[in-house]
Amino acid sequence: MHYRIAVVPGDGIGPEVTEQAVRAMEAAGEKFGISFTFNRVLAGGAAIDARGECLPEDTVEACKASDAVLLGAVGGPKWDALPGEQRPEKALLGLRKSLGLYANLRPAAVFPELADASPLKREILNQGLDLLIVRELTGGIYFGERGHKETEMGYAAYDVEQYSTGEIERIARTAFQMAEKRRGRVTSVDKANVLDTSRLWRKTVTEIAEDYPDVELNHFYVDNASMQLVRDPSQFDVILTSNLFGDILSDEASQITGSIGMLPSASLGEGNFGMYEPVHGSAPDIAGTGKANPIAAILSAAMLLRFTLNQPGAADAIEDAVKQFLKDGFRTCDIAGGGDFCTTEEAGRRICERIREI
Ligand code: NAD
Repeated sequence: MHYRIAVVPGDGIGPEVTEQAVRAMEAAGEKFGISFTFNRVLAGGAAIDARGECLPEDTVEACKASDAVLLGAVGGPKWDALPGEQRPEKALLGLRKSLGLYANLRPAAVFPELADASPLKREILNQGLDLLIVRELTGGIYFGERGHKETEMGYAAYDVEQYSTGEIERIARTAFQMAEKRRGRVTSVDKANVLDTSRLWRKTVTEIAEDYPDVELNHFYVDNASMQLVRDPSQFDVILTSNLFGDILSDEASQITGSIGMLPSASLGEGNFGMYEPVHGSAPDIAGTGKANPIAAILSAAMLLRFTLNQPGAADAIEDAVKQFLKDGFRTCDIAGGGDFCTTEEAGRRICERIREI
């Protein structure tokens, strides 16, 4: 089996962590008879410097010609003074749009060895924290009509939230399919007591649920969901929600796991195509120091193997190797609590050794 992967290293620690993710994929590939061609392409600040634009057309074409995309992170102070449209971060929106990626998947789980890094109390964590947020990524208020106008109360700005049944149906199906492979529970989050879009959301999700009889569905208002996430996160398996609510809830869920350097994500489109990236940014404060934790990028590669390439054995091998690395007492700087730590490269190498041993 051979796959073509577009790698977008990006800026700051992006190239450092994606390199370790590539090595982890190669190590898992050797074990499971899978080979890869990695095509490294430019986006973000690196593309601005080299080509004068954050998302060159040939990058988009290379991504489209690949089986999946592995991305590091983009942005940094060097490009902060550029106007919004020309900033490196624009490349992410451009990639999502041109690749038709409408479903954002963010798992949040606590590794027992790192439980002390979570801001939650032990007795809450002991009940379990292993959830997946499925966020709609290309609709809603971030992409709705917007504008400015004069009102009786003065100058005003507005942004319109709009969702069609088609948009809700396809993201709901992603959530139900994910729940089928997990613990069989979907919690749909909306604000149906106030918003019409949420009432359509709730009705449509309830109808789609009939096609997934083995999955249990419940509905939470977003204010309650945000409270329940810190009160008892063990009640959640898959959380399905809109672009705006998902943006906020996924950051909350990331924080309660304790370390941003550990969290992977996926953005999926039609078929199995997807773009995989760590949740963290380009961390310019530690770029080039060897302090970047590569685990979020390595676990993103595991998601790529699982969801796009349908290689669960290779994905499990990477995830088990990360668990073993932590169990063996190794830590990167962000999770070392001031103690000894591995550099980015050493962590990658030790995880690869464990992939080969498992
Ligand atoms: P950040 O996630 O880059 O960093 C926040 C803090 O977490 C920093 O102290 C950083 O050192 C630390 N950190 C992040 N990842 C780490 C890792 N793997 N290992 C160890 N420590 C890690 O967020 P920020 O500082 O707000 O943003 C920096 C730049 O990244 C900005 O230009 C921002 O726009 C961009 N950004 C990009 C993405 C993306 O490409 N998806 C996401 C968020 C931010």
